[in-house]
Amino acid sequence: MTATETHCPYCSLQCGMRLEGARTPEVVAWEEFPVNRGGLCRKGWTAAGLLRHRERLTRPLVRDPATGELAPATWDAALDLVAGRLAALRAEHGPDTVGVFGGGGLTNEKAYQLGKLARAALGTSQIDYNGRWCMSSAASAGTRAFGLDRGLPFPLADLERTDVLVLVGSNLAETMPPAARHLDALRERGGRVVVVDPRRTPTADRADVFVQPVPGTDLALALGLLHLVVAAGVVDEEYVATRTSGFDDVKRSVAAWWPERVERVTGVPVPELRALARLLVDAERVMVLTARGAEQHATGSDTVLAWINLALALGQPGTPYAGYGCLTGQGNGQGGREHGQKADQLPGYRMIDDPAARAHVAAVWGVDPDTLPGRGRSAYELLDALGTDSGPRALLVFGSNIVVSAPNARHVSERLDALDLLVVADVVLSETAARADVVLPVTQWAEETGTMTNLEGRVLLRQRATRAPEGVRSDLDVIAGLAERVGSPVPFATDPEEVFAELGRASAGGKADYAGIDYSRIRAEHGVFWPCPSPDHPGTQRMFLDGFAHPDGRARFHVVEHRGPAEQPCADYPVHLTTGRVLGQYQSGAQTRRLRDLPDSGPFVEMHPMLARRLGTADGEPVTVATRRGAMTAAARVVGTIRPDTVFVPFHWVGANRLTNDALDPASRMPEFKVCAAVVRPA
Ligand code: SF4
Repeated sequence: MTATETHCPYCSLQCGMRLEGARTPEVVAWEEFPVNRGGLCRKGWTAAGLLRHRERLTRPLVRDPATGELAPATWDAALDLVAGRLAALRAEHGPDTVGVFGGGGLTNEKAYQLGKLARAALGTSQIDYNGRWCMSSAASAGTRAFGLDRGLPFPLADLERTDVLVLVGSNLAETMPPAARHLDALRERGGRVVVVDPRRTPTADRADVFVQPVPGTDLALALGLLHLVVAAGVVDEEYVATRTSGFDDVKRSVAAWWPERVERVTGVPVPELRALARLLVDAERVMVLTARGAEQHATGSDTVLAWINLALALGQPGTPYAGYGCLTGQGNGQGGREHGQKADQLPGYRMIDDPAARAHVAAVWGVDPDTLPGRGRSAYELLDALGTDSGPRALLVFGSNIVVSAPNARHVSERLDALDLLVVADVVLSETAARADVVLPVTQWAEETGTMTNLEGRVLLRQRATRAPEGVRSDLDVIAGLAERVGSPVPFATDPEEVFAELGRASAGGKADYAGIDYSRIRAEHGVFWPCPSPDHPGTQRMFLDGFAHPDGRARFHVVEHRGPAEQPCADYPVHLTTGRVLGQYQSGAQTRRLRDLPDSGPFVEMHPMLARRLGTADGEPVTVATRRGAMTAAARVVGTIRPDTVFVPFHWVGANRLTNDALDPASRMPEFKVCAAVVRPA
């Protein structure tokens, strides 16, 4: 039987798998692929169920103005209608009346073409993507501290070769289970694992040290640890003097963070804080990894900077098997942000307001740099402006289920309803597609070839293993079809390998340089790490060993202050609400909720027995959670593993994000998904 090597459609680990059988493919292990060595989580094993799912869209749908219902249409009719309405809106309101919203699950080729569609064909500055809500705080902090952001600047397998691994706000045992074997291997070697999380998660159960701070106080915890490192006189002075700048100001700024003050703010007892500081300073190699728990805050980028400051003071980043990294979430969370989907960036991590960057990309595209628009709105700000006097009146959505995944989602749904035209390209009729004026059915992972860049910066090839259902088209075809119809001055390739070659030219000389990577190399080498500027370059597994990416080669310390969450508990909303993922589901659930082989618990409200007693509710009984933005009702799940002052709701179903706060981080524009003030009542 033929077997095609490809990669899982879900998370940023991008586990390798083989698909056997072209008509009804089955997932089998690909043991030789180094990231997961044949291991998959349940989502990966069941992913083939998506390919022949009975809810697959196979014909474009157009909303009938007479009935208000979506009705089947031909591709030509649907694309002509979209192009005609875009032309009319642009003629009346200008190019920025069209918004484009992408996704962190799109292949590199699609992300690149989407940015080109927006800027070269539509001339709009209004493009951003859901990855803004994924790891933009870590990206912003990494760029400021190291001069360059690559999620993990080392291979994932390095986790087992450090001495102390600190996971801040990561539940990788549930979100990417095959990665958890590195924690076990590290502990078998005698290393120690530290987990910082308001919930005792399955990851915390595998840790040697578990620290359970109040939600939204990770920054203060890092300040307190750095205070103790400084007070003990164990800063790595030589490293700080030769490889960094800005330490003196940071040293002064943490002087006031006495352990007792840290305990008051974070709830972490002083002896625990001192023991953790001792563990860190006694270790030769320390690795700090953050994830959404630390990053999805209005202070997310400062929080990451605080942990980077700590790692720098200990002399760790840019040394083997140590340093700082971020665990990306979405499948192409890394590549998705490198190729021009972000409001402020062109391909290759080039900043859109840099004249040299504009000239380079314009030359690759064959346009005048002066015709390229400038910086647009960030993802939430773009959605918030939809249908307003100054905002877009049309929105094209690729690879995103905004109605479920946006913060303050009820408000966002109202903004979508205020549009003159909503177009959604998707595989199934997601909650967002169901509100659209035009729905375009597209191919999915194993039906098309394209590259993804996983959490390590390893560029991978998802190979086509099966034919798409009759009637669907690839996103690349759809983008090219739209570009042609709106009168694009430049052509759009539809062959993914051709697009990848163009992407490589556009990225050449940029920070995320793919110029030396091609499909045959990826196949032969099980992925290639960027930057890889030429075909004879080996790729870069470990970054910063010879210097950081700032012009002087030094990392930067940054003074950051604890500000706390935008909403604190009060008399009306007395508890913290936090959100997150569960093992059997992925992101907005548009794919995984449709698979019967995956457990679908539905939404629930996790709370401590003390809180349940206070409310007079019991496990399994319905409760209503309300915030200043909305309310939802779900069954109580009473567990002793969460703080008594906090409730947790998973975000894979409609509801959780009606509650979340749209307060934004000033640097990254990340919304504060991870904490807000809530009230819980028996329903
Ligand atoms: Fe897929 Fe992530 Fe599970 Fe691997 S860990 S099988 S990439 S969902």
